[in-house]
This record gives sequence, structure tokens and C-alpha cells, in this order.
Amino acid sequence: MSALFPTYAKWDVKPIKGNGSRLIDSRGKEYLDFISGIAVCNLGHCHPKVNAAVESQLQQLWHVSNLFQIEGQEKVAQILVNNSVGDYVFFCNSGAEANEAAIKLARKSTGKHHIVSMRNSFHGRTLGSMAATGQDKIHQGFGPLLSEFTYIEMNNQQALEEVVTTETAAIMVEVIQGEGGIQLMNDDFAEALKNVCEKYGCLLIIDEVQTGIGRTGTAFAYEQFNLSPDIITVAKGLGNGFPVGALIGKSHLKEAFSPGSHGSTFGGNPLAMAAAEAVVNEVFSPEFLVDVKEKGELFKEELEQSLRSLELVEEVRGKGLMLGIACKTEVAPIIEACREKGLLVLPAGPKVVRILPPLIVTEDEIKTAIGILKDVLSTVDQAPKVSVEN
Ligand SMILES: *Cc1c(COP(=O)(O)O)cnc(C)c1O
Repeated sequence: MSALFPTYAKWDVKPIKGNGSRLIDSRGKEYLDFISGIAVCNLGHCHPKVNAAVESQLQQLWHVSNLFQIEGQEKVAQILVNNSVGDYVFFCNSGAEANEAAIKLARKSTGKHHIVSMRNSFHGRTLGSMAATGQDKIHQGFGPLLSEFTYIEMNNQQALEEVVTTETAAIMVEVIQGEGGIQLMNDDFAEALKNVCEKYGCLLIIDEVQTGIGRTGTAFAYEQFNLSPDIITVAKGLGNGFPVGALIGKSHLKEAFSPGSHGSTFGGNPLAMAAAEAVVNEVFSPEFLVDVKEKGELFKEELEQSLRSLELVEEVRGKGLMLGIACKTEVAPIIEACREKGLLVLPAGPKVVRILPPLIVTEDEIKTAIGILKDVLSTVDQAPKVSVEN
């Protein structure tokens, strides 16, 4: 019996220890963790520099109100600004909260409230971020939704041009949809986004909660799509497991977030900032990012090679260490078979295997994972197909 609300259909695995790319469960079984807490533990479990930073801060000071000067916030904000097109940062505790802040900032700074977002997007579970999420199944039973969102298909330029007007406050997008199945924005759509925002004076909000903090081989994924967002939201990888989120915005938005306009009790507290500072110092170094990019390319190429002959596999896609294997069947049994063989991967939608190793993963670990994936996918591919005709 569990006293938890059953909001998650939990797996029968109880991890008790983590180290780098490895997890050990309560039965003593070791796994290669290519989920990383869903793109959270980008530096792997118990990274020595993050552990040392948090342990030292733990002895110094845990929490003070945001009414005080907090040195860690100034440092992390400066690093985020130096590595993005933004100028100012607001700290919160999660991705949903960062997106909630983005919706509020877009409304207040433009005086408008129409926001365009994408079908199959995922922006979080709060009322605002849920309304931004273009998936009926996530809205089910929670209406009425926050108005006034319009959903269009990503990469449908015509739809984009039809729905955006001078009354539109913002367009909110992921450049690679994570939960939506590792779906990439194409270059034409990115260009159209830029043009439409300019033409109608609306803001571009890029949700980098999953793609940000080095995951795709650049500090933020939007860099690879030639975009310059007004607002960037991050969370997952920012604290390597310490809950922390942030909104990064351009200077023209400063007035809208004046004193008293928005806030958070915990947002950017000294412990969270100790974790985040250690993370960004490590991840944003050029050598680290090049290494992620190279390992990502190797992973994708070798995976494509290994799976090429399989009828079952439609495509391998993604950028950096955010990869998806699009299949012609439901992937739940594949995910489970990988887990039994000691590899943890995730679904993204019903038919995509999502692969999110820690960014510190080694080439050997990547090769081991490819071996397991090939093994499992080949077995499923060769399983006799039940034919309806016979
Ligand atoms: C996970 C995720 C969120 C929500 O983050 P939480 O920290 O769970 O609130 C928002 N946007 C994207 C793209 C995500 O992947």
C-alpha cells in the first residue's frame, strides 16, 4: 500500500544510489541511466563539483528571503546572461514555474493576452503552463483553461501566419519537442517565427526546460536554429537534481518585472544557487559543449547504422545527447526490455524511445547502450507478426 496519489504509473524499480551514468537499485542491480531524471542530472549522479558546492553551502547558509542580497544569484544570473541572448534573470523552482513567469511577463510587458503555442508541446502542469501545453490529454478534466491560447502544428508556416495578429502577446515554442516525441523545428519555420514576431511585435518565448543547459551540444538549443528569443525558460538540468528554474529575458522586459510584480519564496535560494553555479561553470565551458556535440554525433550515427536494417525503426532523430528512436509500434515493451537488460530509457509519446544520457557519458557507455538497444529492437523486429487476414 502506498499513501501517494497515483499520479505516476510507477515502475517496479527502487534506485538507492547513483554515480555518474550508473544507478543501483534496492536489489543490487546496476543500470546505465540514459534518462538522467529526465534531462536533469546532466553532470551525472553525485558529480563531485556539484556535491562539494552544495555541501559547503549547506554549512554556510541555506535560505534567506529574496529581500536580501544573494551573491549566488548574481553570479548564476551573470553566467546565464553571458551565455545567452538575455539580459536579466528571474529564479524559481521548476520548469512549470519558469513558464508561468514567462506567460505573466509576456502579458504584462505587451498588455496583450493571446499566446500561440504548438500542438504536442509540453510546458508544465500548473494552470498557465498546462494551458500553454497543446495536448488534450493533459487538459482533460481541469477546465476551464486559462485563456487565450491558440495551438498550431509545429512547422506549419501557413497556420502560423494565419493565427498571429497584432493582438498576439507571444509565441511559445520548444525548438525540439521533448515529451512530444523528439520533434525538431525545421529551419523554414524558425525563419517564419522570426518574421512573424517582427511583423506583429509579439514576443518569442523559447522553452528550454529540457533542451537547455548543454543538452543538445550548445548552451541553449535555440542557438542552432538561428533564433533570438525575448524570453528563455530553463529548469531541469540547471541544478543537476537540485530543484531550480529560471526565466532569462531581454532588457526591454525589465520594467514589466518591477518590484512587487512577481516573486517566489524559495526561488534562487543559496543552496539552489550553489548547485546551479557549479553546473553552469562546468557545462558552459567550450570544451565541455564540444564534447557533448561530438558524443551526440557519434551516438546518432552508430545508432542509425545499428538499426538501419530493422523494419520496426522509422528514424533516429535529435541533437546532441537528446535523441529519439521513432518506431512503428508502441515502445512500452521495448523500454521494459531495455530496463531488464540494465539500460534505462524513456518513452516520448507512444512510439518514440527517448534517450537522455548524462552529458558526462563515456563512449564506452554509449556503445554498451547501443548494443542493448540493437538487441532489444532486433528481437521485437523479428517477433512473428500476428496477421489479421489468416
Ligand atoms: C519538464 C518540462 C517542463 C516542466 O518542468 P517541471 O519542472 O516538471 O515543472 C516544461 N517544459 C518542458 C519543455 C519540459 O520538458
